[in-house]
Amino acid sequence: MNKAPDLTHIRNIGIAAHVDAGKTTLTERILFYTGASYKIGEVHDGKAHMDYLAEEQAHGITITSALTKAPWQEHLIQLVDTPGHVDFTIEVERSMRVVDGCVIVLDGVRGVEPQTEAVWRQRNKFKLPSLFFVNKMDRPGADFKRSLLTMRKRLAAEPVPVTVPLTDIPAVIHLIDKTLLHFTGDKGELVRVTPCDENRWKKVAPYRETLLLAIAETDEELADMVLDGRDPEPELVWSALRKATLSGKAHPCFGGSALRNYGVQPLLDGIVRLLPAPVDRPPSIAQRLEGGQEVVAMDADGPFVGLVFKVQMWDKRRHVFVRIYRNSLKPGDIIVIPAKDGHLIKEHVARMFDVDAHKRTRLNQAFAGQIVLLAGLRWATTGDTLCSPEQPLLLESIDTREPVLSLAIEPFSSEEEEKLLEVLDKLQQEDPTLQLEEDSETGQRLLRGMGELHLQIAFERLEREFNLRVRAGKPAVALRETVSRSATAEKLYEQSIEQEHKALVLKARTRISVMPLARGAGIEVIVDPVVKPEGELLSPINNDAVTAGVRDLLQNGPLKGVPLRDLMIRVEEIELFGSASSPEALRAATVQATRQAITQAGGRLLHPIMKTEVVVPEENLGIVLGDLQARHALIHGTSILGDTVTISRDVALDKLLGYTTNLRNMTHGRGQFSMLFDRFDVTGQ
Ligand code: GDP
Ligand code: MG
Repeated sequence: MNKAPDLTHIRNIGIAAHVDAGKTTLTERILFYTGASYKIGEVHDGKAHMDYLAEEQAHGITITSALTKAPWQEHLIQLVDTPGHVDFTIEVERSMRVVDGCVIVLDGVRGVEPQTEAVWRQRNKFKLPSLFFVNKMDRPGADFKRSLLTMRKRLAAEPVPVTVPLTDIPAVIHLIDKTLLHFTGDKGELVRVTPCDENRWKKVAPYRETLLLAIAETDEELADMVLDGRDPEPELVWSALRKATLSGKAHPCFGGSALRNYGVQPLLDGIVRLLPAPVDRPPSIAQRLEGGQEVVAMDADGPFVGLVFKVQMWDKRRHVFVRIYRNSLKPGDIIVIPAKDGHLIKEHVARMFDVDAHKRTRLNQAFAGQIVLLAGLRWATTGDTLCSPEQPLLLESIDTREPVLSLAIEPFSSEEEEKLLEVLDKLQQEDPTLQLEEDSETGQRLLRGMGELHLQIAFERLEREFNLRVRAGKPAVALRETVSRSATAEKLYEQSIEQEHKALVLKARTRISVMPLARGAGIEVIVDPVVKPEGELLSPINNDAVTAGVRDLLQNGPLKGVPLRDLMIRVEEIELFGSASSPEALRAATVQATRQAITQAGGRLLHPIMKTEVVVPEENLGIVLGDLQARHALIHGTSILGDTVTISRDVALDKLLGYTTNLRNMTHGRGQFSMLFDRFDVTGQ
């Protein structure tokens, strides 16, 4: 039997960043300094972010692996992988769901960027204690102070400096220990620690003030001390800062340069000293299937609970990564997964592994707080709660986002049709934001994803990993429909049919009203009608039929046959005609009345609107702005940083297809562009 590990020495963390901030480079350094990897791989300059996957391939599996272990100071740091590109936000979210803390990497020249904001929103969702690493401090124009300011301004996060990076030598000043750490040796592995000299200390003293004031706010003893002008001992500062970090009131900041090998080891100390062990995290809230909530603490007792956060093909077999939240799991155990419709799917755990990068070790038992890999589960997928059959529960699920771009795809040769479907099924299992659909009219296969890059990478994988070449159509943007005003419609449905040689009449009348709701409000369906003749009641079966009639139409708007949103539909009145008002009759009357009400209410198309940010050299500003205007961009603002200008705006996705290439041409390759799906909305044209 495996023993329950001492969880107080484990730190499950995720590292997240805007693309190119240096996440890969930092991860490499962490693995090197902790002895987990002996060779440092370098990311090469000048490659567009399209090289993302190939680049990661070249760096070996450590980076893309779901879980990598890095031992540090009698602790085990477990890195849960988060991908860097925004097209893969779902992957970021599912890692955030199962880690206990995170490190967010900033580019010291740029500070907070759009994808930093996106990962920060996800971090907020789970209230994850977080540290910041201000990277690239070796670059001209890097500014530690300004980077911290962008945190306050754009993330509303309270930055608390812990190390201040220097720019003249590869060193940082430690504000808690008042030391200067000089990183030497080939790869910065030798750290020379000396007391910080007077001159340098004077310059960073204001940072120490900021640090003390921030923790004084959370600890009375310290507050008195700081106000009296007494200097607290490092141990006291560490423990107060830890408290403030765990409560989310403070976000300790470290600085340095991963590429130039300085500042990383103090960050590792920070992870161990400031971020929570699994047992330090607040319990999760789960929904009971029979209604009501249950608090699930990281606990050895009570019925088993776990969460699937990743599906991965390993040796061509389906494996799932699971975080255990309560009790323990053994090979041979039977578990259940509550499905969305309430029924339970039974699964059997065949084998269980401890994972470190690409290495698997068999386990006989695993315990609350651990992250393990399971083989043998056939249905479990990302976001599923695994539970003991005696107490089925639902942990807060991982949101899957709507894929907003689609492409028609087919294999080069029709013999490969079957293989294509099989392989795409595998890819979809690993990544729920990739969806394959068949157009019911044309029979065409559509692959949906989060953006051009997302789909492109899927194609590259088909070719590289599965040796399958596909033809792809032009990208098409997902649309939605809504209504522009309120309307009411009434329909009498009446039909005679013949069933088993008997004439049968189906008859029902429904009155439906629709009303527009605010953007982003979703859909509200109210089925609480006046039933006629007076005294009649709507049976549960008939009620379901009416609801289903409304739902039928919601997936299939009258303008383009796409899903509707941002409206309220109310079933106002129903007239029953005895046995002629069967569920089928009610459903048909409801569909017709709903379609008419929606048509009368004036359909409007909604387009996916992306929040985008373009960074361009000042000299190209004119041409880039002109081009944006032509794309009907709604410009929010521009800000100047050195000789580059950042333009923030909202643009409809259909106006952005191929934009990366255009921008490269307008700016001779110097412009940068990032976008994030924000909402479905009407466009100005
Ligand atoms: P990721 O996209 O966040 O994983 O970023 P990468 O680690 O791939 O780094 C992006 C680019 O920035 C690469 O060319 C790196 O060599 C470079 N880079 C990373 N860290 C630093 C740093 O500390 N200083 C400098 N000057 N460049 C860096
Ligand atoms: Mg990278």
